[in-house]
Amino acid sequence: DRMKQAVTRTRESLSDSISSVVALTREVDQASLDELEPRLLAADIGSATTAIIMENLRQRALRTGIESGAQLRQILKVELKQILDGVSRPMQHPAAPPEVILMVGVNGTGKTTTTGKLANLYRTQGRSVLLCAADTFRAAAIEQLEVWAQRSDVPVIKTKQGGDPSAALYDALTAAKARGTDVLIADTAGRLHTKTDLMKELDKMRRTAEKLVPGAPHQTFLVMDATTGQNGLQQARLFTEAARVSGIVLTKLDGTAKGGIVLAIATELKLPVLYAGIGEKIDDLIPFDSTAFIDSLVG
Ligand code: GDP
Repeated sequence: DRMKQAVTRTRESLSDSISSVVALTREVDQASLDELEPRLLAADIGSATTAIIMENLRQRALRTGIESGAQLRQILKVELKQILDGVSRPMQHPAAPPEVILMVGVNGTGKTTTTGKLANLYRTQGRSVLLCAADTFRAAAIEQLEVWAQRSDVPVIKTKQGGDPSAALYDALTAAKARGTDVLIADTAGRLHTKTDLMKELDKMRRTAEKLVPGAPHQTFLVMDATTGQNGLQQARLFTEAARVSGIVLTKLDGTAKGGIVLAIATELKLPVLYAGIGEKIDDLIPFDSTAFIDSLVG
């Protein structure tokens, strides 16, 4: 399936290294566990998460022993699943439309592309969508979003580059209410020169949304680039401090060996990954399924 294909490189790095430190049928000893540790780190699972997993594996090995590499894989799957389940929660949808979604994240992570893909995904689910092009900071982001919108036949409310994102959002909210649109997705500027600027801007957008639609924004999706690894995590933290992030859209999962970042996101940001970007085409966005992800990863 598509998840399996997307995490091929991470699987090659992680699953093959599990095979190289422990034979499937041989008992797992402390020495082979010691060798597993750097491999988890190499998959970008992160030092905090790796420490938790290794501690649990060592305890388990001491208590009951780990009889085989196959059993080790099984235990690892359960451990990883627990970490992801620990931060997952059902998405809250408003009783009445429009559902308002803010897309936040650093430029270059794939925020605009993801906004277009998400509009397409919801359209194929039969929901009406309105896009708001409020990335008034990055040149070409607005035109880029218009191209995506055309492909999935979704209308866009925009403002000119350098304009006020909240003004664009205001117009879009008004239009969504008047048209009875199911979902309004707003692309925002991914500028990051200071945390205060970022907070101010996101706060203003939040207040604008709240004023026109009670309870809005209902979702704030933080777009993260899987290939940036631990560095991306650092930047993501700023956004979680500036906005009430509901979950992560992890882009560029295709072709990276750093898919383990999903676990670091859970442990360090305490946030679930909700969608995964697995390519550059419009339908290359899939709802994130943690069981499928872990099965693909550990093999
Ligand atoms: P923004 O600055 O955050 O709005 O980033 P863009 O949406 O312009 O995306 C930056 C680049 O990443 C573009 O070349 C996209 O095609 C590419 N991109 C976005 N998502 C994915 C993904 O899931 N997989 C791959 N391979 N490329 C992606």
